[in-house]
Amino acid sequence: MKKISVLGTRFDDISIPEAVEAALQLMAEKKGSYVVTPNPEIVLAGRKNRKLAGALRGAALSLPDGVGVVLASRILGTPITNRVPGIDFATALLSRMSDRGMSVFLLGAEEGVAETAADRLSERFPGLRILGTNDGYFSEYDEGPLLERINEAEPDLLTVCLGSPKQELWMRTNRDHLRVGLMAGLGGTLDVWAGVTKRAPRKWRRLGL
Ligand code: UDP
Repeated sequence: MKKISVLGTRFDDISIPEAVEAALQLMAEKKGSYVVTPNPEIVLAGRKNRKLAGALRGAALSLPDGVGVVLASRILGTPITNRVPGIDFATALLSRMSDRGMSVFLLGAEEGVAETAADRLSERFPGLRILGTNDGYFSEYDEGPLLERINEAEPDLLTVCLGSPKQELWMRTNRDHLRVGLMAGLGGTLDVWAGVTKRAPRKWRRLGL
């Protein structure tokens, strides 16, 4: 897999279908791997925050979320071919997982959002087994029981939608304590799946806006 560094953050230069295949492979290996989807803000934050930089480096898969990273890579003379928005990657992944009857635990966002996302996703992907949900505003006190719930469920995929840098740091810290196939840090993806926030119109997205 070709890797390209943009201002210190490493990216895998792969298409969405290739990223999905790589993610399925990582799930099968069950090694506590995680996926990050840095946008330009996260890349810049990684230059100032050493812990975040370490968490980004520890990812098994790093996908360029948005046109800003791709533009920066072109300006720096090491162009990334593919833009891989986290939401598109994650939706394509769930579709494949549904075909195979695989399982997911939805973690993140405001109270109620993960449940709504679960309802909508079960309609869209009937083969997908959604083993649990939890909002992303748990206290330190609640974290132990949450980890236990996730471990009892043993999902193939854990979505970690806590915003950046919280989600990257959380995945890095908990990778050794969790029995999951793969974790993916996906920002506001649960809000979009739940219909709480809308994506920009398709035309705008194609133009990279
Ligand atoms: N969020 C969360 N816990 C927190 C802070 C944020 O679950 O402590 C959620 C928030 O509700 C939203 C997502 O994380 O659903 C952040 O989305 P955003 O698109 O802002 O992601 P970013 O651009 O920060 O990756």
